[in-house]
Amino acid sequence: MIEIDPERLIGNLRKLSEFGRCGTGVHRTAFSDEDLAARNWLSDKLAAAGLGVEMDGFGNVIGRGASRSGPHVLVGSHTDTVPRGGWLDGALGVIYGLELAQAIADVGEPDLARVDVISFQDEEGTYFSCLGSRSFVGELSEADLDAARNAAGERLRDVLARRSMNAGQRLRLDPGQYSAYLEAHIEQGPLLEAEGVPIGIVTGIVGIRRFRVTVSGQADHAGTTPMRMRRDAGRALLTLANRLNACFETDANPNTVWNFGSISFKPGAPNVVPAEAELMVEFRDVDASVLDRFEARLHEVCTPRQGQMPVEVGVTTLANEPPTLMDESIAKAAEHAARSLAAASRRMPSGAGHDAMVIGRHVPTGMIFVPSIGGRSHDISESTHEADIVRGCRVLAATLSQLLN
Ligand SMILES: [Zn+2]
Repeated sequence: MIEIDPERLIGNLRKLSEFGRCGTGVHRTAFSDEDLAARNWLSDKLAAAGLGVEMDGFGNVIGRGASRSGPHVLVGSHTDTVPRGGWLDGALGVIYGLELAQAIADVGEPDLARVDVISFQDEEGTYFSCLGSRSFVGELSEADLDAARNAAGERLRDVLARRSMNAGQRLRLDPGQYSAYLEAHIEQGPLLEAEGVPIGIVTGIVGIRRFRVTVSGQADHAGTTPMRMRRDAGRALLTLANRLNACFETDANPNTVWNFGSISFKPGAPNVVPAEAELMVEFRDVDASVLDRFEARLHEVCTPRQGQMPVEVGVTTLANEPPTLMDESIAKAAEHAARSLAAASRRMPSGAGHDAMVIGRHVPTGMIFVPSIGGRSHDISESTHEADIVRGCRVLAATLSQLLN
């Protein structure tokens, strides 16, 4: 039995939140002074818990348990944040890992020292989304590195040079080394709180498909051109979007989400019939067959029959991230762990990306969520009740105990 120390856990979370403190939240974007200072602090804490610590040329930090007998379990997440982000987010999963390592050190049983703790770099994509975990599993190319830059246009290569960090020196995953990867995270949504369920057990991380729909027509005077003689790109696009929305409502599973996130007309004046119109469409689901169905609908709706619309319609794919399913036996272990602690749990997909999405392609992966107050995240208002934070860590400890046995 691994017994966590709630006071130490909360204390370490509070301490970490001082790096880049920003009101009630944290501003600790990847490769900032605050981010690197936090990574050094974490390294010291992991070393003090008896782990062998290494930081690589991106700032990925790993602490390795001392045991040489059998595969280890990797526990962690990320300590970088979005600008003006929350104090928990990925920090929660990393400090849970630290707490588990400390609790194991307290027990003093050498065979339990089969837990490694990791903080990945730039999960939030300040320069490149999931940079650290992608590098760890060998999914980061030199071309990706060349292209990586922040919103201000600063190249990652230049930041690394300025920081004297060597991108060639990388921590790399040996999949045989690990029987499991465990990541805990705040939910970043309102479901757990609304249902009064303290533990979410993630079934998978959704795949994302994103498209640009463009309609080309002709600009005309909006007062003098009869409706039947117009080649109105704007109205055509609105019609397509409505049809698409109706199809999606019919085709969706309970957890499918979709978004018409941006729409624009050109030239964009009240007295000109739009010549061009553009719509961004995105949908997410853990089930690839749902994504396939939605994509087929999109192409069907955007291929109007001859003479139906006097405009041209085009569809361009902008993103296609496949879903990552979490490991069923780890999910069962987490469910059992929650039950043994009299904590209600529910299965749920993750609508947001996580390092677990990348690691899960290589190592059996399990993920648990704790409730976010008001569903808030990626903002300084993000928080979770201390009782929920402690309960989540206990569930993770109980899950880990099963995996180590
Ligand atoms: Zn996160």
